[in-house]
Amino acid sequence: MRVVVVGGGIGGLALAAGLRRRSFGVTVFDRDREVRATGGYHITLDGRARTALAELVAPEVMERLLASASALRLRDRDAFWDHRGRLLGHGPDLGQDSGIDVDRITLRTLLAEAVGDDLHLGRTVSGVGHDGHGAPQVRFTDAPPVTADLVVGADGVHSLVARHLAGGPTNSPAGVIGFSGRTPLGDLSPREQRRLGPRSGLALGPRGTALYVGFLDPVGNAALDAPELRMSVTTGPTYIWGAMLPESVATDALRGLRAGALRAALLDRFRQRGWAGPTLEVVARADPRSVAAFRFNAASTRAADLAPWPAGPVTALGDAVHATPPTAGMGAGAAIRDAAALLEQLSEVAGGVTTLPEAVGRFEAGMRRRGSEVLTLAMEGVRLILATDTAGGTGSAGDRAPRIP
Ligand SMILES: Cc1cc2nc3c(=O)[nH]c(=O)nc-3n(C[C@H](O)[C@H](O)[C@H](O)COP(=O)(O)OP(=O)(O)OC[C@H]3O[C@@H](n4cnc5c(N)ncnc54)[C@H](O)[C@@H]3O)c2cc1C
Repeated sequence: MRVVVVGGGIGGLALAAGLRRRSFGVTVFDRDREVRATGGYHITLDGRARTALAELVAPEVMERLLASASALRLRDRDAFWDHRGRLLGHGPDLGQDSGIDVDRITLRTLLAEAVGDDLHLGRTVSGVGHDGHGAPQVRFTDAPPVTADLVVGADGVHSLVARHLAGGPTNSPAGVIGFSGRTPLGDLSPREQRRLGPRSGLALGPRGTALYVGFLDPVGNAALDAPELRMSVTTGPTYIWGAMLPESVATDALRGLRAGALRAALLDRFRQRGWAGPTLEVVARADPRSVAAFRFNAASTRAADLAPWPAGPVTALGDAVHATPPTAGMGAGAAIRDAAALLEQLSEVAGGVTTLPEAVGRFEAGMRRRGSEVLTLAMEGVRLILATDTAGGTGSAGDRAPRIP
């Protein structure tokens, strides 16, 4: 069976790595010219995503990943603060948590290596259709079409493949705009280093402002102690933060700014909304080149609304189907779990146990449940931010705080 994957992001590469390992013919097309051309933030993979990944990639790839990842179990309990830095409460003990945090660039690079020369970069797919025999094919504006037995759209939030299948967009803006950046722990004042500590945290403030501060230390907190295998982009304890605001005409203007100008404008917005004390130091001392703005898009939380097309030789996975805001830290994990589920179904087709349409149908049914579950969790965070869009904001965020990735 020949599979063409549109999109070599997290889900597409995870699927292709698994297909290649099981001797399927696979080709991945991605418009990016470089694998490292991807967000500079970190990805949390929970225990289920980690297990799915271990089914897709070879054990030596998994070892390199773990040697480059920060173990959640080595982190202190998460903390919740208000916008003035007052501690509101702590999250659960992470001692038994098998999840990991890994640089997005490291994860994508490792997956791309596992896919090898089956990944074709700089190739933008312009359309999906069928050849004269009814076989699915992908089209390009600058090259002949490529035909396959199965086409999988792993082309993210603005998926062309899912739009073709659904007859329209599969998600819409969630009403929140995010800004991410990286701040090495050593760049903070000793006092702020102590306050933040070796843990992730979330601060909630008035008028829909929130600041997630994620702690990543792939060296000191390595999930696997094998420095010779390490390939993390982050080489010391670092906070990777995400500042969030309700989207408006005024916040839209921020999206046109870059680097130091973006960081300064973001700090202004938060100060205008009453943030004070040490809480903004992590933003103020971020490497300006790391600061970026991104919009949150979300698909429906209802399983029945996801992948609303009849099962056939063109399907999709990951954000293309269930675009998930980062507020639960589960979008990439869900894409990897989709990839493992599709591989399992396709292996049954190859073994003669079932037909391709039946296998795709079963895969899509599982993906609807999975997508609905992660979207429901992620939208709790979005709703909390939008609910505090009042002058008073939150007084007791600890009681209602969303999951911290
Ligand atoms: C700041 C931030 C933090 C996040 N943190 C987490 C986290 O902690 N944990 C977590 O699980 N998730 C997290 N996420 C979400 C996660 O990044 C996504 O859910 C995940 O990347 C989805 O994977 P995907 O393969 O579906 O899409 P993507 O990884 O977005 O890949 C889509 C790919 O398709 C390519 N493409 C698109 N159109 C075309 C085309 N026409 N032709 C060819 N190629 C095309 C793109 O270049 C891209 O490489 C975060 C997201 C953000 C923005």
